[in-house]
Amino acid sequence: MSPHNQEQSGRPRVLIIGGVAGGATCAARARRLSEETDIIIFERGPYVSFANCGLPYYVGDIIPKERDLLLATPSYFRERFNIDVRVHCEVTAINRQKNEVQVRNTETGEVYQEAYDALVLSPGAAPVRPPLPGIDLPGIFSLRTIPDSHRIREWIVERGVKRAVIVGGGFIGLEMAENLVGRGISVSIVEMLPQVMPSLDPEMAVLVQDHLAANGVSLHLGDAVTGFEQGADGHGIVVTTQSRDKHPCDMVIFAIGVRPEIKLAREAGLEIGALGGIRVDDQMRTSDSRIWAVGDAVEVLDVVSGEWILLALAGPANRQGRIAADVIMGRNSRFRGVQATAVCKVFDLVVASTGASEKALQRSGIDGRRARYEKVYLEPTHHVGYYPGAKPIMIKFIFSTEEGRVLGVQAVGEEGVEKRIDVISMAIQKGATVFDLEEAELCYAPQFGGAKDPVNLAGMVAANILRGDSPVAHWDDVNQGQGTVLDVRTPREFAAGHFEGSINIPLDELRGRLGELPQDGEILVYCRQGHRSYYATRILRLNGFNASNVSGGILTYNMQRKVGVL
Ligand SMILES: Cc1cc2nc3c(=O)[nH]c(=O)nc-3n(C[C@H](O)[C@H](O)[C@H](O)COP(=O)(O)OP(=O)(O)OC[C@H]3O[C@@H](n4cnc5c(N)ncnc54)[C@H](O)[C@@H]3O)c2cc1C
Repeated sequence: MSPHNQEQSGRPRVLIIGGVAGGATCAARARRLSEETDIIIFERGPYVSFANCGLPYYVGDIIPKERDLLLATPSYFRERFNIDVRVHCEVTAINRQKNEVQVRNTETGEVYQEAYDALVLSPGAAPVRPPLPGIDLPGIFSLRTIPDSHRIREWIVERGVKRAVIVGGGFIGLEMAENLVGRGISVSIVEMLPQVMPSLDPEMAVLVQDHLAANGVSLHLGDAVTGFEQGADGHGIVVTTQSRDKHPCDMVIFAIGVRPEIKLAREAGLEIGALGGIRVDDQMRTSDSRIWAVGDAVEVLDVVSGEWILLALAGPANRQGRIAADVIMGRNSRFRGVQATAVCKVFDLVVASTGASEKALQRSGIDGRRARYEKVYLEPTHHVGYYPGAKPIMIKFIFSTEEGRVLGVQAVGEEGVEKRIDVISMAIQKGATVFDLEEAELCYAPQFGGAKDPVNLAGMVAANILRGDSPVAHWDDVNQGQGTVLDVRTPREFAAGHFEGSINIPLDELRGRLGELPQDGEILVYCRQGHRSYYATRILRLNGFNASNVSGGILTYNMQRKVGVL
C-alpha cells in the first residue's frame, strides 16, 4: 500500500465498509500486519462483529442473552487493535477519483468524507424480499441482524404466536423451523422448489424432509408464495400460494435467499459479475486496484465447476477478509476459490455437504467440461457398531470417472457427519482422488469411528468401481428390465418388499446356488444398502458372472421413490 492520503494523521489509511464477518476479520488482520496504518471500520448498524450465524438460536432462546452474540465491541477494537470502529455510519458513495468515501451518520444525519489509500468493501448480502402483495404487512420478517432478531422475539411474545409460516426451505429457513418449534410454535414451510436444502440432491433432501415432518413441520414443496393478506378479523396473516393454498398464521419468516449488496460498488463503476456480485481477482481486488471486496457481496470461483458462483457463508468471508488485508499490507496471499462446504442442524439431524452435487455437475460440468462422473451411496455407522450408540450416516459420494478425482459429497445423519465432510472438503481442495481417500489415515477408537472410517469406505467403494472390481449400477438401471436382478437379502427382508422381477438368493447361500443364475447377461445385485451385495458381486465376478452392485440398494430406491421420480 502506497500512502496517498495522509493528510489527517500522516499515516496510510485503510477504510473498511461493513464491520461483521469479512470486514472485522480484515481489520484485525491488517492491524496484526501493520502498526503504522490508520484502520477505520464503518458499520451502518448498531453492532460490529456479531454472530449472525447464532441469530436463529437467539430467536429460539437457545442463546438467551444478546451479549453472547457480540463477538467484539467498538471499544474492544479500539483497545486491543487500535482500530477506529464507527457504528451507525453508512458509507453512501465512493469517489474513486479522489480516493475518498462519503459517510452519513444515521443517528445525527452528519455527512462527511474520509480519504483512503486502500478501501475494502464487505457489505454482505441482503435478504431477498420480492414485491409481493402484502409483503409489508406487520408480522412478516427477514433475519439478518440483531435488531431483526429482537423484532421477531418481541412479536412472538407480544402476539402470543402459535402458528408461523417460513417461506424458503434453505439453511436459514430450516434453522428457524427448528427454533420456532422449540418455542412451541406450529410451523409450515412453503418452498418453491420440489425439495428443501437446494445444496443437496433431491433424494438426499428426502431424508431431511421426512425428519422435518416427523418433528411436526408441515411442508409445502413445489409451491410459490404469491402474496399475503390480513387475517379475517384483522388479526394474523394469510399466506397465499400459486396452488391457491391459504396458510393462516401469526408470523411469517421470509428466508428465500440473499442478494449481494452492490449498490455502492455499482455506483462507483466497479465491475459486477453476471450473477450480480462484485467481481474480484484471486487477491480479492476489484476492477479498481485500490479497492478490495470480500464476503457475501463478491462472486467466487467454484473449484470443481470452474464457474463463478455466489456463496453466502461465513468461512469464505473470513478467509477473504484476511487475504485482502495481507495483500493490502504487501503480502502475496491468494484465495483458492470455494467448494461450498456447509453444515446445518435440523432437529436431530446433521446435514452437510461439500463440492459439487449431482445436479450441479449435470448443469455445469467439471472444470467447464461435460461431467464424466459416478456416484455411490453408502450408509456406514459413525463409529463401530459394537460400541453403544452407533448412528448411521447416509452418504452420497461423487467422483470423476477419468482420474478418480473427488468431486462432491453429501451426508445426513445424527453424529459424526461434519467430521467426514470436513476431511473430504480438504481432499477436494487439494485435488485428491478416491485412491487418496482409501489411504487417508484417520483417528480411530471405538467411540469415534471405525478402523475403516466412513471416509476410507467412500474412497474404497469408489476405487472398487474404478478398478473394475465391483462395477456399479443404480436403481434406475434395475427398472430398465435388462438382465437378472438378484436380491441377496434374507427371505424375510425379500418378502417385506423387493424390486419387481428380482430373484432372491441370500448372500450366505450364494456360493451353493450359482447354478441357478444365467452365465451370460448382466446380473444386477442388490441388498438393503449395498454392503452385502458388494460381497455377492465379488463372489459372482470371481466365478465368471458379469455382476454389478446396485449402489445404495433398496434404501436409495426408497429415497428416490419419495422424490416422485418413479
Ligand atoms: C441468520 C443467519 C445465519 C447464518 N448462519 C450461517 C452459518 O451457520 N454458517 C455460515 O457459514 N454462514 C452463515 N450465515 C452467513 C454468514 O453470516 C455470512 O456469509 C457472513 O456474515 C458474510 O460476511 P460479510 O462480511 O460479507 O457480510 P456481513 O457479515 O453480513 O456484514 C456486512 C455488514 O456490512 C454492513 N454494511 C452494508 N453496507 C454498508 C454501508 N454502505 N456502510 C456501512 N455498513 C454497511 C451491514 O450492516 C452488515 O452489518 C448466516 C447468516 C444469517 C443471516
